[in-house]
Amino acid sequence: MPEAPQRVVIIGAGQAGGQAAYSLRLGGFEGEIIIVGDERAPPYQRPPLSKAYLKGELEADRLFLKPLEYYAEHRVELLTGDAAAAIDLDAKTVTLESGGKLGWDRLVIATGARPRKLSLEGSDLGNITELRTLADVDRLKSLARAGARMVVVGAGYIGLEAAAVGRQLGLEVTVLEAMPQVLSRVAGPEIGAFYTRIHREAGTDVRLGARIEKFEGHGLVTGVRMSDGEVIPADFVLVGVGVLPNMELALAAGLSCGNGIVVDEQMRTSDPNVFAIGDVAWRPLVHYGREGRLESVHNAIEGGKLAAAAILGANPPGLEAPWFWSDQFDLKLQTAGLWTGADERIVRGDLGGRAFAVFYLKEGHVIAVDAVNSGPEFIVGKKLVAAKAKVAPGDLADKSISMKDIGARALS
Ligand code: FAD
Ligand code: NAP
Repeated sequence: MPEAPQRVVIIGAGQAGGQAAYSLRLGGFEGEIIIVGDERAPPYQRPPLSKAYLKGELEADRLFLKPLEYYAEHRVELLTGDAAAAIDLDAKTVTLESGGKLGWDRLVIATGARPRKLSLEGSDLGNITELRTLADVDRLKSLARAGARMVVVGAGYIGLEAAAVGRQLGLEVTVLEAMPQVLSRVAGPEIGAFYTRIHREAGTDVRLGARIEKFEGHGLVTGVRMSDGEVIPADFVLVGVGVLPNMELALAAGLSCGNGIVVDEQMRTSDPNVFAIGDVAWRPLVHYGREGRLESVHNAIEGGKLAAAAILGANPPGLEAPWFWSDQFDLKLQTAGLWTGADERIVRGDLGGRAFAVFYLKEGHVIAVDAVNSGPEFIVGKKLVAAKAKVAPGDLADKSISMKDIGARALS
């Protein structure tokens, strides 16, 4: 049994790192907590970056997970604007980019993920942006003036949320997606077709199966050349083509890594004194009997709570099915579970309207739900997913049977 820890160092001042610190204090940890973060800001939430904050409806300090006073009052030392440069597992130290060294009894790696880069000619031109940090959005906001031509590469969450805001701000928007469907990584074809229609109706030029040859311009980008020779004019470009886990520190230290830092159900890495949480963690997905990396607020918060409980020797919190959300125009998409592997899809409601849900089944069991402006379908669906409940497809499709009744029958 390892001795009680006196000092916990957390690398990464994001959603997961912040949560680990809050949960440690909430759980009664009396020792030192130090958070090292390479961004200047204290831990903040990213979801509004591609929504209300990009739209100019929110001040930056409203993004902070806790007010600045919290950290002094709860003896959480924030070392922001400095990065961890190396981890020594034997000496139990972290070397900082600024030159200092921190000892630790337990280490939590919460370094998140970074946007994937395109390796196309012209990718280094000015006004080609990405969207991960407050600094990225502040840059984007200065470019997103009414009438400007914005080209978005990638129709995942980032691309579509930013495209929606772009239209609302009066920009001309083109979305270029390599796959035949938008949101292909996270949702099924009905949801993809629905959001393609919504964006097109809003005036966005959505191109599927898009093949980009290069970015054109001198100094600043002026257009995107497609493989068929067409050049789409652009005042600026937003690239949102997925993320890569920030796991290089862990790899160099000798921790077991795959597509992320490998952890067990307690978020413990291959070194028993080191934990990894949030976007960077490759974790058991207990509802699916496999492992994977999740990129969501729920996953970051759950990981922070699990690591804190393990460090404290406390009971772990109960696990929910993974869940996500996305706001685009007046539409709230709420997702519970992971739909890949489904062998049946049941639509509940009218795909041609603005409120419906798609349930994903595998061998008759509900494994995921996408609910558009449909609260009960999400709330009950989340419980059905967690229980891997078996529900008659006819009942799910029948709007005359309430979700409450479906849940009561399936979960009793
Ligand atoms: P992060 O929040 O990225 O934090 C990691 C931090 O560690 C970063 O500040 C990083 O710079 C820092 N770091 C990295 N390396 C080092 C180092 N060596 N030393 C010090 N610091 C380091 N999820 C949802 O569920 N719903 C949404 O609506 C939603 N919207 C989103 C919108 C945007 C624009 C983005 C970018 C993400 C969104 N997400 C959403 C995803 C969600 O924000 C992430 O899954 C979550 O932030 C992951 O938390 P994390 O702590 O693992 O990583
Ligand atoms: P994403 O969801 O992985 O989507 C990226 C999309 O870009 C994919 O459809 C991808 O297709 C496509 N793509 C890849 N290369 C391309 C190319 N060369 N040309 C055109 N399209 C290309 O990632 P993201 O939207 O960039 O989001 C980044 C991170 O932020 C993720 O962690 C995401 O979860 C998070 N985020 C979440 C929310 C939310 O939960 N609401 C909102 C914003 C951001 P392939 O499948 O072919 O690669």
